[in-house]
Amino acid sequence: MTQVLESRNPATGDVVATYPVDDAQAVDAAVTQAHSAQEWWSGLGFDGRRKVLDRWRGVITRRMAQLADLVHLETGKPHADAMLEIGLAVDHLAWAAAHAKKILGPHKVSSGLLMVNQSATVEYLPRGVIGVIGPWNYPVFTPMGSIGYALAAGNTVVFKPSELTPAVGTWLADSLTEVAPDRHLLQVVYGFGETGNALCHSNVDKLAFTGSTATGKKVMAACAEHLTPVVIEAGGKDAMLVDADADIAAAADAAAWGAFSNAGQTCIGVERVYVHEQVYDDFLAQLTELARTVHSNDGADTAYGPMTLDTQRDVVRRHVADAIEGGGRAVVGGLDAIGERYIQPTVLVDVPEDSSAVTEETFGPTVTVARVASMDEAVERANATAYGLGATVFSAAHGTELARRLKSGMASVNGVISFAGIPALPFGGVGDSGFGRIHGADGLKEFTHPKAIARKRMKAALEVTTFRRGAKEDSAFAQLITVLHGRANQFTKPAGRLSAVSDRLPDRLRR
Ligand code: NDP
Repeated sequence: MTQVLESRNPATGDVVATYPVDDAQAVDAAVTQAHSAQEWWSGLGFDGRRKVLDRWRGVITRRMAQLADLVHLETGKPHADAMLEIGLAVDHLAWAAAHAKKILGPHKVSSGLLMVNQSATVEYLPRGVIGVIGPWNYPVFTPMGSIGYALAAGNTVVFKPSELTPAVGTWLADSLTEVAPDRHLLQVVYGFGETGNALCHSNVDKLAFTGSTATGKKVMAACAEHLTPVVIEAGGKDAMLVDADADIAAAADAAAWGAFSNAGQTCIGVERVYVHEQVYDDFLAQLTELARTVHSNDGADTAYGPMTLDTQRDVVRRHVADAIEGGGRAVVGGLDAIGERYIQPTVLVDVPEDSSAVTEETFGPTVTVARVASMDEAVERANATAYGLGATVFSAAHGTELARRLKSGMASVNGVISFAGIPALPFGGVGDSGFGRIHGADGLKEFTHPKAIARKRMKAALEVTTFRRGAKEDSAFAQLITVLHGRANQFTKPAGRLSAVSDRLPDRLRR
């Protein structure tokens, strides 16, 4: 009997869409079709692909409200928040299509003095078929960070959306099919973990995974069997730093949005805040006041939706309970804030740093706030995590400097998650947050392989790659290298001493 996948509205439990689950055979068939389609797609060149992607962007934009309805139904997030994520995804698609040629197309590089007779070019070629595995929390913005950039680079895509958001994935693929009928540029495969696993074992040329760190490890292990390269966009435990000279009202506003929006189900959401002791009381008072005005319910005026994945509620409960058992206090919310479907904002203080509320990804509308004696202490505590995705700094004088010291792939200064909305900036993490990048020039290159071409323009004055080479050429080569590099660091050596390299050269070659 065919297994079926049902997505449900997390606010009501109603079924939104039903799809038959794809087994390994079906996944392989989709990947084979994607390989045939890729020849045509890469043959279109950058300009041809841009035209198709621009038309697709137009379709998505004109029907944004319809797609937002679907995102709202499958994730529970408010329609306006869905519009926001779609708008940002469209902006990224425009950037990827417009910049692919300049970033990936052939460009000359210097051939260097030794190889001056050569002309050197590098270009970035599509890998072929990219498998994309996506999460449910931003079912348009997140996978499109891989899909849009992979397509712009000349690849075709087979996409396994989260089991919670398959209809959104289908909408994206169908809208592209409308502008490129029968081309199979983006196909969707449906299912649970096993379908994702089948995609890892299929003939894809690269796998772009976004999801939890634990699943990321499974994906990487499966891909390793085939030497299939992977991009891992995993979870985070992002920190916000608030310096003594920061704009406290702006910092409190950013902390509230960063922590509670989308019910905290944001990989780059703010989960921990470290505040300089001089402004701690003021910050906490302003955040508390704000948090008390933010509510989540099934009404039209809700600030955010229900928990999309109901089991996540148990993680939130465990973290809040752990924080309180360890001596922490909920100044807003707490265990009572955790309802059946909706969780109200929770602000936790005095939480021990080894509590799960501080060390593990909560993925709920909660935040811990801690007092620090200095920004050095703030940096040290923020960095004491295995994760390293995003970060936020509020500081008038030292924002960028503090951002640089944080162990993270991205940081926003005096704003929150701003980096995600800037298409030219690479998106991704370090440590348990994964590796590889989507977005920006790095995100385009991620779905390509560099092709290096050296073309001989003229006969070399000194031919070294021939068996006709003799002692004369060897000596000339040694001399040339000495002229080019023998003086390196000579001014940093003690006077009168020859460098280690020239020490070993014959006398006639010493300078
Ligand atoms: P999961 O890790 O549970 O799932 C991610 C995807 O992997 C889903 O499509 C899932 O399918 C699939 N999957 C599950 N098991 C396997 C397997 N064995 N092999 C291959 N694929 C598999 O994450 P969530 O969907 O719960 O998403 C939330 C997580 O995503 C959070 O940790 C969040 O931080 C992270 N995230 C990271 C982002 C980033 O850019 N760094 C952005 C957004 C989210 P199924 O749904 O059917 O189980």
